Amino acid sequence: MDHPVASPKRSSAAGGWGALKSCGKHLLGSRAPLSGARAMLKANQPDGFDCPGCAWGDPAHGSSFEFCENGVKAVSWEATDKRTPPKFFAKHTVSELRGWTDYALEGEGRLTHPMRYDATSDRYVPTTWPEAFAAIGAALNALDQPDRAEFYTSGRASNEAAYLYQLFARHYGTNNFPDCSNMCHEASGIALQAAIGIGKGTVLLEDFEKADAIFVVGQNPGTNHPRMLGDLRKAAQRGTRVVVFNPVRERGLERFADPQNTVEMLRGASAPVASHYYQPRLGGDMAAFRGIAKAVFAADDAALDAGKPSVLDRAFLTHHTAGLDAYRAVVDATTWEAIEDQSGLSRADIEVAAQVYLGADKVICTWAMGVTQHRHSVATVRELANVLFLRGHVGRPGTGLCPVRGHSNVQGDRTVGINEKPSAALLDALETTFGFTAPRRHGHNVIGAIGAMLDGSSKAFIGLGGNFARATPDTALVAKALASCELTVHIATKLNHSHLVPGRVAYLLPCLGRTEIDRNARGKTQIVTVEDSMSMVHGSGGINKPASKELLSEIAIIAGMAAATVGSERVDWASLTEDYDRIRDLIERTIPGFAGYNVRVRRPRGFMLRNLAAERNFETETGLANFSADVLPETTEHQRASTTPGTFVLQTFRSHDQYNTTIYGLDDRYRGVYGERRVVFAHPDDLAEIRARMGDRVDIVGNHDDGVTRVAESFRLVPFDMPRGSLAGYYPELNVLVPLSTFGEGSDTPTSKSVLVHLRAPAAA
Ligand code: SF4
Repeated sequence: MDHPVASPKRSSAAGGWGALKSCGKHLLGSRAPLSGARAMLKANQPDGFDCPGCAWGDPAHGSSFEFCENGVKAVSWEATDKRTPPKFFAKHTVSELRGWTDYALEGEGRLTHPMRYDATSDRYVPTTWPEAFAAIGAALNALDQPDRAEFYTSGRASNEAAYLYQLFARHYGTNNFPDCSNMCHEASGIALQAAIGIGKGTVLLEDFEKADAIFVVGQNPGTNHPRMLGDLRKAAQRGTRVVVFNPVRERGLERFADPQNTVEMLRGASAPVASHYYQPRLGGDMAAFRGIAKAVFAADDAALDAGKPSVLDRAFLTHHTAGLDAYRAVVDATTWEAIEDQSGLSRADIEVAAQVYLGADKVICTWAMGVTQHRHSVATVRELANVLFLRGHVGRPGTGLCPVRGHSNVQGDRTVGINEKPSAALLDALETTFGFTAPRRHGHNVIGAIGAMLDGSSKAFIGLGGNFARATPDTALVAKALASCELTVHIATKLNHSHLVPGRVAYLLPCLGRTEIDRNARGKTQIVTVEDSMSMVHGSGGINKPASKELLSEIAIIAGMAAATVGSERVDWASLTEDYDRIRDLIERTIPGFAGYNVRVRRPRGFMLRNLAAERNFETETGLANFSADVLPETTEHQRASTTPGTFVLQTFRSHDQYNTTIYGLDDRYRGVYGERRVVFAHPDDLAEIRARMGDRVDIVGNHDDGVTRVAESFRLVPFDMPRGSLAGYYPELNVLVPLSTFGEGSDTPTSKSVLVHLRAPAAA
């Protein structure tokens, strides 16, 4: 029964009227449209608050509307009028709430009171802050050693909250800092540290106005960094080539209608974004860029043979890099056959991309999870850097490496000490400044923390924001890990699934949101600071009335727990809560680059944290930018899948109505999905091959043979433009299929973009 497989109706361009309609819908949905709209006028403004969405930068001279559709969703979701008060918990047991969807849980609205889990009634019951802090302090001090506690950080935490958190945990005696970046850009940090001597990108927002080619790899900015579309579109309109490598044909990378462009909106028009769109196989980016390097070296050989100048930046290579010869050798040893097989792209296509690269004087390369959530992601990021080194595209205006971070302050958290492998310099500075002995043993990242909770060596989990149980792989195992703890504490704005797997003693502590006014006891409004993907540190001050008078700031909650656990002899936690300038003074004393912090952060748009690599001063072992010489992975998941009929490679990603594990709605209009999330995208020919049709339901079954059965039940098939043999669907629902034991070499990042699975008829049918 071969039927033409219909494709879903998608919006013709990203942005546009669809974005405005969606903004209206979410503002109304928050039941506080006026305060929501008022708040948006202060989003990403010098005298306003930093959008709690992604980490895209703010222009030096921004407009009054410096926000995108997903920024409106993030703010409306936080500034909602809906509440989850104690009487809600009195009505529902924790076991019952575990059956709710992520969307339904957070949809109940803002938490209003500190809550304690009562195992007898299986409910959360109201408590007081002093009681909660005392009990948490007692439980932590009851552990026989500090390394039995895990301190998790979500990238939404401000610099001040993150700094105080690391100070608390290190004063307590551990470096166990599982952190949301372990699941996203860890591979970028590790690769860039080795290649250029700093784990951050070298690009400023202004560089996008100067580049003449921008390579966008494994990234879907239309949904995950929407304001980036404005910068890409402007670049494309001035003739910059935007070269995309993404397995999935994403609308935002094809066309964008700028909602702030009145003429375009009235004409219902849009502008192209990508000049070149390549759809490599999942995990095929390293091979694709290896191919670009091969073509570039071939062009150089041809030029030199013809007596023409080298096409490489010989001056940069000679004076600023190390390892070129070893890299050239491994490129020469890599066959085009291997490159085509792993990338899934033809030599001809790759050579066209190489021509764009060769024709450009200033090149930027941006990337995200499509690059960082594979086994060989560290090597892939090194390959992106290698290619840019060849023509000196680092440390010059309009050039550079740009990992685009997901969470608004995930980069800042790492900068101020959230790191399970802290530098000796940081620990020395803490010891000198505070007089306690800092723990020197490296701690746990996310994978390490889950393992330790599962084997019982860790007994306590503290969550500073986030939704650990849903953001991590192997959902069933992680729930077991959390529930096995003596103590679980979650600092949150809304109810989520992580709160519903309580430890023996469990607390749910509601905090102020980024959009809310944070006043100290003397009535002074406090600002916090964040660092975006471009290393710009800027202030953020809320403007909305807090959702409840019971709420405390993340900083006050951390200080309360710390004082109850380690005392205030060495750190006066209360005074730091009283005035965040004092926390910034401590950051200035113990973390490099923050001189004059309190003055500089009050300048419009804040300040840039110095990035020596952007000045071609590479603090690497060689003192130079280091080429890597990694061979291509022996096999990729696609190659493994091709040996077993019926096996697919699955990637998890976000819908357009989602931000990390926060589900704002059930639509994904750029992909033509409305009102549901249990969908799986596949190539139309793969559907035809398995005699399936659009809309048929399937179970997705994990192929990982570690004795754990992993099944995601009853997902609707949706045909989509993507490589044969690959599937895609949303997390957190599909995280149940991602094995805890498959993670990136060197990064320990779960391989959420390349999971081996097969399909079967739904068990329930
Ligand atoms: S691009 Fe990111 S930071 Fe900017 S408004 Fe949108 S979600 Fe917020």
